[in-house]
Amino acid sequence: MRAFSYDRPDNVDAALRGVAGQPGTTTEAAVKFVAGGTNLLDLMKADVMRPERLVDISRLGLDRIEEIGDSGGDGGLRLGALARNADTAYDERVQTRYPMLSKAILAGASAQLRNMATNGGNLLQRTRCYYFYDTGTPCNKREPGTGCGALTGVNRIHAILGASDHCIAVHPSDMCVALAALEAVVRVSGPKGERIIPFADFHRLPGDTPHIDSTLAADELITAIDLPAEGFAKHSTYLKVRDRASYAFALVSVAAALEMDGQTIRTARLALGGVAHKPWRDPAAEAELAGKPASLETFAEAARVLLHDAKGQSHNAFKIGLAERAIVRALAEAAGVEHP
Ligand code: SF4
Repeated sequence: MRAFSYDRPDNVDAALRGVAGQPGTTTEAAVKFVAGGTNLLDLMKADVMRPERLVDISRLGLDRIEEIGDSGGDGGLRLGALARNADTAYDERVQTRYPMLSKAILAGASAQLRNMATNGGNLLQRTRCYYFYDTGTPCNKREPGTGCGALTGVNRIHAILGASDHCIAVHPSDMCVALAALEAVVRVSGPKGERIIPFADFHRLPGDTPHIDSTLAADELITAIDLPAEGFAKHSTYLKVRDRASYAFALVSVAAALEMDGQTIRTARLALGGVAHKPWRDPAAEAELAGKPASLETFAEAARVLLHDAKGQSHNAFKIGLAERAIVRALAEAAGVEHP
């Protein structure tokens, strides 16, 4: 690991001063925030990320989970950026009002990692593409302009949607897939004050700048994630398909949330993980479900629409059929429709 300097401020203003003046986005920054450290420290040990300075934000007091507004429960819920993933998943309000989110968090990593990892850090974790971690291979995300080892290499875990000729990596988070379906918003603080980033705009597709994962600026700090009041508690689920039952990243995952009127779908949210550089939503697939009877045929048609432009690489074309079946199964589970 390379030498770096280290600060541990005890308030948000001091933390922001620590990153002030840095240009670009957070993935390009030389000074980085660290909290749980469950991904960043691994990347530093592997010489994949080389920050010059770490600003430890673990003492900023951003670890609360609280109701939004004064209405005592009919508003949304604010998840502190420094609340641990485990504390968030087991929070009674999250479990009751946002069971899809709780399930998604508990599907990720291991108990030890969830005890350490924070909500803000979960959003900023980086791809687990093998070539990104292997400094002896080309990788446009790690070293822009060097090429993509995965395009002609082993790409079984890689993207089938939204990829580019420069990068076919996928975002590794489970939590973020549920947050995308819930239409959470990310609250950030920076030199110009606070701003709110809709979840759909937080992560980005690779295009020709795959080294940039998100729209968070290098001098901004995530302070909280706001969940809207609608949690789809009655009709939602998170389904994760992976190579083994725990401590494995998703080959395909589905966050499915429905608002039902009897057996008719009023509105639908569908987000996929393990298939793209960001949690993947498709308004056309969700529109396909609205107003239709909750049936396996309806779900299969929505899956067909969502995967219409999916493209497999040499080792991962199986993900297209897998995603189709996972979507149908998740929607059936959310709607309470029997599934063979
Ligand atoms: Fe790097 Fe992206 Fe290619 Fe993986 S898929 S080697 S992260 S450029």
